[in-house]
Amino acid sequence: MTVISVENVSKRFALGHGASILAVDDLSLNVNEGDALAIVGPSGCGKTTLLRMIAGLEQPDSGIVRYDGILIDNTAHRERGIGMVFQDYALIPQWESKRTIGFFLRLRNREREVPERVRRVSHITGVGIEQLMDKFPRQLSGGEKQRVAIARAFARDLKLLLFDEPFANLDAKFRSNARIEARKLLNEFNITTIYVTHDQLEAATMANKIIVMRSGRVEQMGAYQDVFNDPDTMFAGQFVGVPTMNLFEGEVWQGHWQGENFGPFPIHNPDIADESQVIMGIRPQDIHLGGAVAGVVDSITPFFAERYQLLNVWLAGEEWSVQVSLDDTFTIGKTYQFRADINKLYFFDATTGLRIRKQ
Ligand code: ADP
Ligand code: MG
Repeated sequence: MTVISVENVSKRFALGHGASILAVDDLSLNVNEGDALAIVGPSGCGKTTLLRMIAGLEQPDSGIVRYDGILIDNTAHRERGIGMVFQDYALIPQWESKRTIGFFLRLRNREREVPERVRRVSHITGVGIEQLMDKFPRQLSGGEKQRVAIARAFARDLKLLLFDEPFANLDAKFRSNARIEARKLLNEFNITTIYVTHDQLEAATMANKIIVMRSGRVEQMGAYQDVFNDPDTMFAGQFVGVPTMNLFEGEVWQGHWQGENFGPFPIHNPDIADESQVIMGIRPQDIHLGGAVAGVVDSITPFFAERYQLLNVWLAGEEWSVQVSLDDTFTIGKTYQFRADINKLYFFDATTGLRIRKQ
């Protein structure tokens, strides 16, 4: 069942002196019951504005948001069952944490349920929430405020949870655990979630679907793996996937892509005319050690938690990023042999940014 439908929603902000910015541009999407949807995209692309319109906190200039098929303006705020954790936490300054967290249940004379809720939430935010209960927002650090805001969101009857970068201020050691625990809780209660994050790992863990946003529009929507493996555009291909996809400019000649310094590679698409400007992409994961091409390692960045190292390699006259296992040892300035998996090349129209698929 569709819980939320966003239909052709736009929002423009005045910037003064007659200037304005179109933060959300004729955007439509559906969120189904039980979905965990992550919205990813660069800073300023309209994620928060979209989420605020879905929450009913911001009025769209045009378009509508329906909630269970009913216009959001026609549903009473407390009937919506929306829990929110926003970037700025929105805690009431005069309230201690226990009042904030207990508010929803106390209003319904269910105060005795509060301790059990808090206990569950402490799995997400890490221990110590009990110590925060008698404190006011001004006595809390950023990370502590965030924990209280998360606890408040869960301490109510939820149908929909809206999250705007919820774990950004948690300590790194809590963050990955927080994602896993939150996901468990959301699954357990079958809570529909919309989740804004700039952190791809978070999107991949928390969401069964992602939306890549760009300049107020949906660039691509799908499972993380599908967008990663099969991006519709150069933007989506480059935005999704860590480390970032390598891109090289080139031109098509007789069905082949030819770069300035290397090529040709067949592009398997008869519709592409000779002399078309085409950008070739290859992911750092698709370049492997041991092959015919020599490259000089320029820099090495280990990512211990993710168990890989990222090499910058001068290879065939270009700089490439290559993802390799932590088990192999490299020395800056030395030459190694590499091989690109040519079945994993992506081609994009240089003018439109659209993907050119095999045909
Ligand atoms: P994101 O959350 O993706 O970083 P936002 O939705 O916060 O993006 O903002 C989208 C664009 O709208 C940005 O250019 C931002 O500066 C602008 N914007 C957001 N809120 C306002 C506002 N209240 N007044 C003016 N401009 C705003
Ligand atoms: Mg934002």
